[in-house]
Amino acid sequence: MTSDRTDPACLFCRIVAGEIPSDQVYADDRMVAFRDIAPKAPLHVLVVPRDHEPNAAATAAGDPALIGALVTAANTIAEQEGYDAYNLLLNTGAAAGQTIFHTHLHLLAGGITALPV
Ligand code: AMP
Ligand code: ZN
Repeated sequence: MTSDRTDPACLFCRIVAGEIPSDQVYADDRMVAFRDIAPKAPLHVLVVPRDHEPNAAATAAGDPALIGALVTAANTIAEQEGYDAYNLLLNTGAAAGQTIFHTHLHLLAGGITALPV
């Protein structure tokens, strides 16, 4: 499912739109994935729905299947990058360390050096 939900003030909307460069590793009609600018593991990728929602719960409320698609894409990316073990993290709320209020799934592999919060 796709829609035109974007927020022009949102950094990840601007990355999704190609207005701000990123080191992209995956893209399809529902999401893009790119390397985190401040990696906390040898592999640290953010899997980001194209639709702007503030957090994973909001994405799940509007499109539950999209959360499954993010996980499937993360598994594909990990395999492509040569990892068969990894961690997934969905920070939700400023008090939990969320700094970008556009849903993003952290994919980390190869040994986490610090929590991405
Ligand atoms: P969170 O703390 O869950 O909101 O995670 C936001 C993540 O976005 C952090 O790990 C940042 O390092 C990452 N980040 C911020 N700006 C960029 C950018 N321009 N390109 C890639 N990753 C970014
Ligand atoms: Zn956004």
